[in-house]
Amino acid sequence: MSASNDPKNYRPETRLVHAGTLRSQFNEMSEAIYLTQGYRYESAEDCEARFSGKIPGYVYSRYSNPTMDMFEKRMAALEGAEAARATVSGMAAVTNALMGLVRAGDHIVAAKALFGSCRWVIEDWLSRFGVTFTLVDGVDLDAWRKAVRKETKVLFMETPTNPTLEVYDIAAIAEIAHGVGAKLVVDNVFATPLYQSPLQLGADVVVYSATKHIDGQGRVLGGVILASEKIIGDHYHNLLRQTGPTLPPFNAWVLLKGLETLAVRVERQTATAAAIADRLAGHDKLTRMIYPGRADHPQADIVKKQMKAGSTLIAFEIKGGKEGAFRFLNALKLILITNNLGDAKSLITHPTTTTHQRLTPEQRAELGIGDGLVRLSCGLEHPDDIAEDLLAALEKV
Ligand SMILES: *Cc1c(COP(=O)(O)O)cnc(C)c1O
Repeated sequence: MSASNDPKNYRPETRLVHAGTLRSQFNEMSEAIYLTQGYRYESAEDCEARFSGKIPGYVYSRYSNPTMDMFEKRMAALEGAEAARATVSGMAAVTNALMGLVRAGDHIVAAKALFGSCRWVIEDWLSRFGVTFTLVDGVDLDAWRKAVRKETKVLFMETPTNPTLEVYDIAAIAEIAHGVGAKLVVDNVFATPLYQSPLQLGADVVVYSATKHIDGQGRVLGGVILASEKIIGDHYHNLLRQTGPTLPPFNAWVLLKGLETLAVRVERQTATAAAIADRLAGHDKLTRMIYPGRADHPQADIVKKQMKAGSTLIAFEIKGGKEGAFRFLNALKLILITNNLGDAKSLITHPTTTTHQRLTPEQRAELGIGDGLVRLSCGLEHPDDIAEDLLAALEKV
């Protein structure tokens, strides 16, 4: 099998289509799905050399597999990372990205506006093993500075956040992390690899749920951890091989094909979201409308500094709390009520009763998640059809 030429100077759109492709002796056009648990060796000596790592090659599909390998290589080329490791879900990526960096007695500082399961991993799971944590308001750089201490090994955040689309200063927070010898881990799902490059801004580790924009058509789960060869080698290589949260070959193949169209989908979905945000701004049935691409976004200066474009997502708060939001959701005809995002189909979520149900009303208030807040993920439909559906449903509130 040979790797296709993959010059680093190709632009992201080109890397999305070609980077990491491995072709077998049949020279297949499309990437192949290697459904095999293991590999045979030419000789006992060859087997011994592969196991000892003296010669490269696949050994066992819990470790790696050519289809998974192609996905990892394509993601690394896109992100500008030295190395990548694919996982079976976004949460497997986040959990291992954190667990690989800490041991009992260590401390994590994280922004409190986190995807629900990420917050659970820090608050309820890692704390079982003697890893303490401090949750801070991610916008407040002084809060990060005050929270770090000599036991701090990890700073963790997502930006833009779910669901209120707050934006945090990656370069400034990376500097705070490095000041105490800690590593910054960024969950980059909402920005996508196209619009924000945390490693270039100083982050040490980037994680994705590939379930979102990377698949982009609601088919499979997947995740990926990206970092330098050294960080992957020191913190993740053995953890992932020995514990086995491996991405199955079929899912890796779906995600590889998803990557081929990522740029066209995300560009179109972002243009749609920007147009819809402009149409919704100031609407008399809304108390708030948040879109990272607009000048009225609370962190518009940071957006300008670290992101190439806005987002495929919009958050807005409907008058009348939960009742108003439910009346609006139930009046939608095209946009689907669900909790995924980044899909070809436009999707809408009510965080208070779904993704953030576990939090207390006080914790939600602290995060700016009111009972009338909804999160819209713009799809590939005609923008006017999406806008008309939203505006007609708002009339019903
Ligand atoms: C969805 C999501 C995850 C978890 O990913 P799964 O693929 O569902 O496990 C983590 N972080 C963010 C920001 C997400 O949106």
